[in-house]
Amino acid sequence: MTPVGQQVISIAEMSSTASMGLFYVEAEMAISDEFQEFCVLECSGCKQKKRTKDRKAFECPKCNRKTTLVPRCIFQIDLIDGTATTITSISAELGEKLLSMTAEDIFDITCAKRQSLSLNHVNQMLSNKLFQIQLRKSSWGSSNSTHATLSILSYMEKEHTPQSTTDRNSKKIRPLEISEVEVMATTTTTGSSNATPKFEPPTPAKKV
Ligand SMILES: [Zn+2]
Repeated sequence: MTPVGQQVISIAEMSSTASMGLFYVEAEMAISDEFQEFCVLECSGCKQKKRTKDRKAFECPKCNRKTTLVPRCIFQIDLIDGTATTITSISAELGEKLLSMTAEDIFDITCAKRQSLSLNHVNQMLSNKLFQIQLRKSSWGSSNSTHATLSILSYMEKEHTPQSTTDRNSKKIRPLEISEVEVMATTTTTGSSNATPKFEPPTPAKKV
């Protein structure tokens, strides 16, 4: 559920606004870039991202000691609604949950074995589903150029839209209507002679 006071906005609106912070959108999700690495290596101490695929112990200048590198799941995912498409990043546990894989597994496949992840089942799972997504828009860059990035903080599958529910119901109702008509037709033809059973006294519940 959307927290009280948080308004769902369109992706077009979110992309065009200059303000940073938290946004809520309702969108479909899809991973279009299956050749990304889906993980990075970061220092187990300070969590700083390292531009390497080598997991050997290293001297972290920030931690000022020898530390190890651990993989962290992070990847790009597209959000699509009726107004626009935007690329966001999803990371850590949320990303692992979406892929149903641990960061260690992802690192092993994409970085150690240099293979691409098989995303068929993930995209299949995501297809035709609407999600309520909480995003953080933040900016970074130098004084002459700033960029905005979007990262997913949470997502939840939204209940089916009322339209699809009515579609399903109308399919169920139609055969019922036909049988009702048939029942009515038989009562009208035989009704005149067999009218008496209708006037039988109701079950004597009051006598007890
Ligand atoms: Zn460090």
